[in-house]
Amino acid sequence: MSNAICKICGGSSPAETFKLHYNYRCVVCPKCFSGRTEQLKKQQQTQEKKIERPPGWDAEDDYLEQVARMRKDENQAQFSKIAGTSQVKCRCSKCKYSFKYDPFRKMPRTCPFCNTDVPRLKTFNLL
Ligand SMILES: [Zn+2]
Ligand SMILES: [Zn+2]
Repeated sequence: MSNAICKICGGSSPAETFKLHYNYRCVVCPKCFSGRTEQLKKQQQTQEKKIERPPGWDAEDDYLEQVARMRKDENQAQFSKIAGTSQVKCRCSKCKYSFKYDPFRKMPRTCPFCNTDVPRLKTFNLL
């Protein structure tokens, strides 16, 4: 039993199962003859269309999420190293007040000016 390559789908099937297809005007494999290949193509096309044209609110959602993420970054207290000490300088996200922060003792816990919680400093690699 020798296989032949179908011109329509590129798949190989036993040569004797190929049949002449009216629309394709050539011999095709059983899958194409039964219309499966065409069905799959149509399905793929509609799926591609969906990806190409997402509903408007979807794109906007992405955008809003991005903006929210950027705002979150902005609102985070900023830490910077104080040269020659084990302390860092913390800039409060709310009142922009700068104060010394001890990352080892985790002190102070709140901003001395406005009492906003100081976020936990996760990375010590700036020390
Ligand atoms: Zn085929
Ligand atoms: Zn503050």
